Amino acid sequence: MKLLVTGGAGFIGSNFVQYILDKYPDYEVVNLDALTYAGSLDNLKEMKNNRRHKFVQGRIEDGKLVDKLMAVIDVVINFAAESHVDRSILEPQVFISTNVLGTQVLLDSALRHKVKLFYQISTDEVYGALRLGTKKRFTEGSPLRPNSPYSASKTSADLLVRAYHHTYELPVVISRCSNNYGPKQHPEKFIPTVILNALHNKPVPIYGDGLYVRDWIHVLDHCRAIDLIMHQGKMDEVYNIGADNEWANIDLAKKILRIMGKAESLLTSVKDRPGHDRRYAIDSAKLSHELGWKPSIPFGKGLVETVRCYSEAGK
Ligand code: NAD
Repeated sequence: MKLLVTGGAGFIGSNFVQYILDKYPDYEVVNLDALTYAGSLDNLKEMKNNRRHKFVQGRIEDGKLVDKLMAVIDVVINFAAESHVDRSILEPQVFISTNVLGTQVLLDSALRHKVKLFYQISTDEVYGALRLGTKKRFTEGSPLRPNSPYSASKTSADLLVRAYHHTYELPVVISRCSNNYGPKQHPEKFIPTVILNALHNKPVPIYGDGLYVRDWIHVLDHCRAIDLIMHQGKMDEVYNIGADNEWANIDLAKKILRIMGKAESLLTSVKDRPGHDRRYAIDSAKLSHELGWKPSIPFGKGLVETVRCYSEAGK
């Protein structure tokens, strides 16, 4: 099988490419990535000499390039995205270009080349926010109520993917995952920021009151879920992926400081993000009932390994 993985030099994409090359000795991966500030060839060091991995630097909005690559592809998995909410508030336009227009270019090309599956990597943020102190969780049927330019652009892409199936019968599937953690994440994201600042005894920034709740899943559990959905998921379905592992930012930061033996006095409240979503929580019962998936990496263990990994790299 030949996969086109976009955004495969980023955090989740690079973990996924490695996972696939390790698990399927006969699969080949074409990895298209623009190498924006968020992507790095360092993330692909382990596959440098792997003949089944071909890296191509380029943008998913580049129709000519995408068409050239698509000619030999069975399955497209679209990870490529601008992914940082704070940046989307400052500069929404690039989010529309990559996340919306780029997805449309890929869809058009996938249709022209009759790929067997177009897999869109989406996010729980498309559902908007939940209130604190409730047990409510997002299901696949929850209304789409994105609140940031980032989540609005991801929602738009999801709707285009759905429309390409409905209108042109392109085989598609979408999965919406909660917050990932693990190796190779950009230092601007929450967990790497906490670890790296604490490592150097710098203030650890906490937005507002710190009571922003996210569900955290190890990136390899996300990769396993994508693998399962890609091979056994039903066409034109949406699957939620979550770990039932909710943490308020402030509590998670304290847990990381404890692992590192650092003082809580490093925690520093900073001006809140505008329109900050209070809580995300995801119900992945459909994925576990239909495909038998459940997360396998205990949070305590995954977090200790993640702290070790960034601490070693950040020294
Ligand atoms: P990331 O920012 O680490 O990586 C994104 C990659 O896309 C980078 O390598 C970047 O160079 C590349 N890219 C950006 N614009 C491009 C373009 N126009 N053309 C080609 N490549 C381009 O992001 P991530 O955290 O690995 O997220 C990957 C996907 O998973 C995204 O679609 C994101 O919305 C989704 N997602 C992420 C999380 C999370 O917690 N990180 C959770 C759910 C869903």
